[in-house]
Amino acid sequence: MDVDEQHRDEEMTRKPKPHDILWLPDGNVVLATDVYLFRVHKSVLSLHSSVFKSMFELPNVGQPLAEGNTTGNARDTFEGLPLVNLFGDKGEDVEHLLRTVYELRYHDYHGSNTPCDTVIALLILSTKYDFKDVRANVITQISKQYPINLQDYDSVDDENAPLFGMVRDDCHFDLLSAAYKAEAHVLLPTLYLACATFDIRDILAGTRCSAVDPECLQILLEGRDGLVSAIIDCIWSIPEFVRKGIASSGCCQVPSCLEKFRYVRLSHLCTENFSSTRGKSVIAFHLSPTCMLCRSFVESAIEKERETVWKKIPALFKCPSWQVIKENLDEITNS
Ligand SMILES: [Zn+2]
Repeated sequence: MDVDEQHRDEEMTRKPKPHDILWLPDGNVVLATDVYLFRVHKSVLSLHSSVFKSMFELPNVGQPLAEGNTTGNARDTFEGLPLVNLFGDKGEDVEHLLRTVYELRYHDYHGSNTPCDTVIALLILSTKYDFKDVRANVITQISKQYPINLQDYDSVDDENAPLFGMVRDDCHFDLLSAAYKAEAHVLLPTLYLACATFDIRDILAGTRCSAVDPECLQILLEGRDGLVSAIIDCIWSIPEFVRKGIASSGCCQVPSCLEKFRYVRLSHLCTENFSSTRGKSVIAFHLSPTCMLCRSFVESAIEKERETVWKKIPALFKCPSWQVIKENLDEITNS
């Protein structure tokens, strides 16, 4: 095989091919990507996407050639059907979007098992082409895994828990990168928080690997500094809250827990690791034994103090307040 033949051969293998499923016999437009061609319906795309709707309303876009007209640009048709090139979109990503639109059960947005690549493709492409319902569903799905109130966040914040076909910790940077690009503001505070709880070396590696926007990285690093300061303030006030907690518990121990309790390595909590400041963790690892009654009072006193850190989180990462985020999220999920 000479060089020209080899080049032609490579050209042939690179040519996009009709998709196995989304090549619908009565489709009236072909979408072209790097690896797949999709034969779908203008009416269906227009129903879901304002971008495609406007595109198809433009003269000479997505219109078939008049019969006998052979002067049209051959690149704009495929087997006589109008062809739209989706430059820069990966075939696999477009497949996820189109199958979500065409197959009711393709994307279960109530669950947490959707592969991370699919979730990200849906978020990016639904934003790019304004598939409003798909976007609302996928933002709702991600927000359930990165909740905006502290108790809910704590309940899912387990680094080794499975999420989107991976381990939870391995999702954060990809999702932050996608949410930032897709301007999904309601997802950003908790995604920033999740990413901020790594050490700097892992943050730099993770953000590089996930192609996080430089401005987003800067917000993350500055926010992380602020988070550490807020956590240190919280830790310094723990002794006071522990004393208050024990004092109000009505402790029956003799001598009372107020006289007996000791701290163990409290300074180890002065890091970016927000989850280690949970009342339960502090009591388990940093407070010498107190009675069960005092434990519950101390735990709730510490949790109250953590709320003050939580309140600061949106501002630390240059996001609107929790209240505004909540209103926006309600608007999206109820749309
Ligand atoms: Zn006690």
